[in-house]
Amino acid sequence: MTLVSIIVPCYNEQESIPIFYQRVDDILEKFKQQREDLSWEYWFVNDGSSDETLKQMTYLQVGHPDQVHYVNFSRNFGKEAALLAGLKQAQGDYVAVMDADLQDPPELLPTMIETLTTSDYDVVETQRIDRSGEPWLRSKLSQAFYHVINGLSLVKIRPGARDYRLMTRQVVQAVIDLPEVNRFSKGIFSWVGFKAKVLTFDHRDRVAGNTHWSLRQLLAYSLEGIMDYSEVPLSIASWLGGLSFVAAILGMIWIVIRALLFGNPTAGWPSLVTIILMLGGLQLLCLGILGKYVSKIYLETKRRPQYLIKEKR
Ligand code: UDP
Ligand code: MG
Repeated sequence: MTLVSIIVPCYNEQESIPIFYQRVDDILEKFKQQREDLSWEYWFVNDGSSDETLKQMTYLQVGHPDQVHYVNFSRNFGKEAALLAGLKQAQGDYVAVMDADLQDPPELLPTMIETLTTSDYDVVETQRIDRSGEPWLRSKLSQAFYHVINGLSLVKIRPGARDYRLMTRQVVQAVIDLPEVNRFSKGIFSWVGFKAKVLTFDHRDRVAGNTHWSLRQLLAYSLEGIMDYSEVPLSIASWLGGLSFVAAILGMIWIVIRALLFGNPTAGWPSLVTIILMLGGLQLLCLGILGKYVSKIYLETKRRPQYLIKEKR
């Protein structure tokens, strides 16, 4: 038998869960007619939802006790934590990660399973190629994000890359084995490497509910991603310091020459104040960047678990 585990992080998805289950199960049942060795299990992770999400999971679990499992967190720990919890629980030879809102098309699952079981690929990734359903500002900002992170970091992330993917047990183990507390899945998946095939699809809307990401959260998430996978911001400090040092030397030389040639009339207070402000600002910026990295080190050294499980079934 080939067992496929499907991991679904859920935060306030009471309406999506039953629809999700129905759609995915229909597709896999149909696929099973060609692949008789196929079996599958679900791992729903309730990430501290405040609605009836847990009830929906329990309901499915009672109806299909061998196939449907769930993990219930003690509070909201974020999607990254929910993904990790699911990966750790999954028993499958192949593990899929999917959003509950059906924005990750389950019709791709048969192709993904077929690819991994019949070729030497280790991962099938997905990429959303058209962002038409998204607000203009958001898609521009996310383009900028991919540009920056791919420029600053050795880890490359494809624009529009989704977390939706199917992995072999070996890849899942590699992801779980990374001990870091600050987890940025897009970076981790890219960092572990392995041979990956990419499937593309067009944007689709949520079946129910609303997105949990505000623009501010997305910006914070992008910054985290960049800092987790790049040391370049740290060297900004040295570069800015070096540049202003050179500028100061040039300025001094210019002042001496000017004094020799034209004398020294008392002038230039406004420019002086601007320069002081500018240098002060640069110093604060660099301190801030440094501080962000220090706080990440602080969080890592605490070695706190990424999530707490209240119950599991
Ligand atoms: N999610 C989660 N914890 C959170 C936020 C989101 O588990 O704190 C789940 C959510 O239920 C969904 C997936 O992560 O299954 C993606 O979230 P969402 O659809 O809101 O993101 P978007 O598709 O808008 O980027
Ligand atoms: Mg979504």
